[in-house]
Amino acid sequence: MPHCSLLAGEPIEGTPLLTIRSPYDGAVAGEVTTATRAHTLAAVAAAVGFRDTPTRYRRSAILDAARVALEARREEFARTITAEAGLALREARYEVGRTVDVLRFASMEALRDDGQIFSCDVSEQGRARKIFTTREPLRCAVAITPFNHPLNQVAHKVCPAIAAGTPMVLKPSEKTPITALKFAGLLRDAGLPGPMLSVLLGPTAEVAEELVRHPDVDVVAFTGSVPVGKRISTTAGYKKLVLELGGNDPLIVLDDADLDLAVTLAAEGSFRNSGQRCTAVKRILVQDGIAEEFTRRLVEKTREYVCGDPMDEATRVGTVIDEASAIQLETVVHEAVAAGARVLAGGVRRGALLSPTVIVDVPRDARMVVCESFGPLAPVMKVRDLDDAIAVANSTAYGLSSGVVTTGLHHALRAIRGLRCGTVNINEVPGFRIESSPFGGIKDSGLGIKEGVIESIKGYTYVKTFSLPW
Ligand code: NAP
Repeated sequence: MPHCSLLAGEPIEGTPLLTIRSPYDGAVAGEVTTATRAHTLAAVAAAVGFRDTPTRYRRSAILDAARVALEARREEFARTITAEAGLALREARYEVGRTVDVLRFASMEALRDDGQIFSCDVSEQGRARKIFTTREPLRCAVAITPFNHPLNQVAHKVCPAIAAGTPMVLKPSEKTPITALKFAGLLRDAGLPGPMLSVLLGPTAEVAEELVRHPDVDVVAFTGSVPVGKRISTTAGYKKLVLELGGNDPLIVLDDADLDLAVTLAAEGSFRNSGQRCTAVKRILVQDGIAEEFTRRLVEKTREYVCGDPMDEATRVGTVIDEASAIQLETVVHEAVAAGARVLAGGVRRGALLSPTVIVDVPRDARMVVCESFGPLAPVMKVRDLDDAIAVANSTAYGLSSGVVTTGLHHALRAIRGLRCGTVNINEVPGFRIESSPFGGIKDSGLGIKEGVIESIKGYTYVKTFSLPW
């Protein structure tokens, strides 16, 4: 039985099927039905025409019931993620846990109103009135999500929209749509009214681009690559945009760092989720004096990251999303080596598997570190001091997140001030966050509008101001 695209909660049947295969061994993970332009237009119309918005209490209850259902089906969802994305099962389980949190926090936030009251008799020009603010749902939100967190990325769009009471049309990645469709089924079973969520897969021109251009869509929330994000920003027209794009995050290791901690953070940041996190560590900037010892320990540590069959309990690093991506990563490693870099661990490709790779003496202008390398690569680069590290960190087009390993508060404070990016984590990986904290980048990584459950709810609503004589 294929998994069906959903039009206003109803299955789309009898359309061409998309076959999803495991990047590890090509096994069929499942089939999904696709949507046409007519389905796309109908999904937007159903969202815009929906009038029966559930109360805050009801929205909260739906999100909470979905959380309970996901808790009960944790393993099934984890295995679905692994089957279609090739991510190690332990990573998939972690992702399901994060999504449980998204549902929990969204359920809580659905009950909360952030409205304000302004007394107007506070100035010479004022008078005895009061101004109030309230958040109103939008007519229709569109969400477009990437492959790298097939469940959590989807949850971060869908759950805040439900909390806000805004109907949504979701276009998940064609590489990992099964998890998204199962998640939508979970919400529908929890009582979500059909028109509040459509999930459409299909040709880009008929689904994604049609959604982005549609004049009745009030907001497009996109997470994905920089080129697609920039294309969306030119085709969307007059509507709100939330863009969460690529990253090239540095981990800065200063010579006063706890070296064991630094090595652990470097390995976790570079290799978790097969290096396919927007906030993965993409560049390790180590102060000269400790670079040799740090690298020796990192190479040693890398042995713990067993790479192989993603369904195997012992595996810590599964595949990247497909063989073409693994070949591309292999190519940027070869280019760096040709420019003088040395591979000290890993660098071996088998199909879509690329073993965790530690590479040193990477030139500062190598493609591997100037552009985003979406895989388990740990390029180590030497820096003179914190100023040099900040300069190198800021030198790319990206500005998503960063990590700094130091025991000096003065260094931490200078780094927080000097790094041009959305997040600075001291003694943590760049990817550290909780699901409700504000998250998002600047420069090519995004427009500075944050996500995270609380901020996303703001994105899916508008503030209405009204005043009363008082
Ligand atoms: P992608 O190629 O940009 O695709 C993302 C989504 O956009 C997919 O659903 C894709 O559909 C869709 N799409 C493709 N062309 C489109 C168009 N012309 N108009 C509208 N939508 C279109 O990204 P990806 O390779 O899946 O994901 C990896 C990227 O996401 C990395 O760059 C990573 O850094 C970034 N990312 C960023 C964040 C963040 O929060 N900043 C988080 C996670 C990932 P198809 O599947 O049909 O191609």
